[in-house]
Amino acid sequence: MTAKTLFEKVWDAHVVAAESADTPAILYIDLHLVHEVTSPQAFSELRERGLKLRRPDRMLATLDHSTPTLPAGADGERPYANAEAKAQVSQLETNCREFGVELHGWNSRDRGIVHVFGPELGATQPGMTIVCGDSHTSTHGAFGALAFGIGTTEVGHVMATQCLLQRKAKTLAIHVDGHLSAGVGAKDLILHIIGEIGVDGGTGYVIEYRGDAIEQLSMEERMTVCNMSIEAGARAGMIAPDETTFAWLKGRPRAPQGAAWDAAVARWKSLRTDDGAEYDREVRIDASKVRPTVTYGTHPGMAIAMDKPVPAARNAQEKRALDYMKAEAGKPMQGTPVDVVFVGSCTNSRLSDLREAAHVLRGRRVADGVRMLVVPGSEAVRRDAENEGLHHVFTAAGAEWREPGCSMCIAMNGDFAQPGQLVVSTSNRNFEGRQGKGARTVLASPATAAASAVAGRIADPREYATEVAA
Ligand code: SF4
Repeated sequence: MTAKTLFEKVWDAHVVAAESADTPAILYIDLHLVHEVTSPQAFSELRERGLKLRRPDRMLATLDHSTPTLPAGADGERPYANAEAKAQVSQLETNCREFGVELHGWNSRDRGIVHVFGPELGATQPGMTIVCGDSHTSTHGAFGALAFGIGTTEVGHVMATQCLLQRKAKTLAIHVDGHLSAGVGAKDLILHIIGEIGVDGGTGYVIEYRGDAIEQLSMEERMTVCNMSIEAGARAGMIAPDETTFAWLKGRPRAPQGAAWDAAVARWKSLRTDDGAEYDREVRIDASKVRPTVTYGTHPGMAIAMDKPVPAARNAQEKRALDYMKAEAGKPMQGTPVDVVFVGSCTNSRLSDLREAAHVLRGRRVADGVRMLVVPGSEAVRRDAENEGLHHVFTAAGAEWREPGCSMCIAMNGDFAQPGQLVVSTSNRNFEGRQGKGARTVLASPATAAASAVAGRIADPREYATEVAA
């Protein structure tokens, strides 16, 4: 039997028709996640063509991108950013009712960012193929699933056929050897990796993250790593499921139960790259060399340890990026004055991320003149955080504690920064204007974000490792 990689195992198990020189493969999709922004057109097309959903039972919908993170007013009205945002939300409610899709809307205890609530429900499982009309669907690869972001046309195609047309990607193994140092986390690691391989280093590939440092990561940390695979240009990112994965999934509402659980775990254990399987490309990363890392430009490949000097621009595009960011070649990012700090997004809005930020903030204050928003990734995260009293830590420090949603990751719900403001953000994209017209984004870990909020400048979280008595 031919030795196979994890990707090849999942791919082969879902091919309905193999690709040819002229046609892509037809791939069966196990789970289709839906939100209000990329689905309305697809539902309209189904309606116009008189088509039904092929497998509504394999769809799950949520409200996240356009949803306000401030509470409803006394009249019950939610403070939508504009009429379009409100219309998107109500259109998804209508579409889900009409087509019979399970929606986790305003009244659900499980509503959350699409890449946070799916795993929380146990809907994301090893060996699945998963799609969503959002680039960061790669998050679900943390469970050993093959998960793609797809475009609106493809959303409609999957709705009607439960299949996706795909060319088979090449395989890239990223081995992360050794251990991460104290005070250095998964976000630093993935920013370091993208800084090393470049913003197009993964183009054409599905990445498999491997090695000791990856196996030591929690599920939340693995999701952070896989989430940003797309920022290196990769089609998807994956990590082989192991005991950490199984322990995290066990007992979740949509995970298999009883005998079905045992059978599933036995099946999932085979989802490891076989000895002797070959990747198209392999990269080695030394975990001990990773330091608190931030971005200095306008794409996530422009990332560097915060205490290292920003490199000189090598071309006009990089020069424009440095100018936009007002970053100076030869000077480190550490110490740069900060206007806004955002802790949230499908990269870093889970309970462990909020704990990391709270650990730094406990007993400290957000610096004068700095605005800090903390936005949990889901209702479940919000509940758990409030049960632990984390919201009190944030508000006592002077930060704003908000309702779940994408918020300032994409700034389409009314949460945005002003032109020229520098935002230290735990999200995944630092493109020009992503967090508001003219806003300058520096991607960072939750610990770095919190330390920077306290210092009023980009700061090394290791200097705030000790909690202060509240
Ligand atoms: S948090 Fe950002 S990246 Fe994640 S689903 Fe929302 S908009 Fe997309």
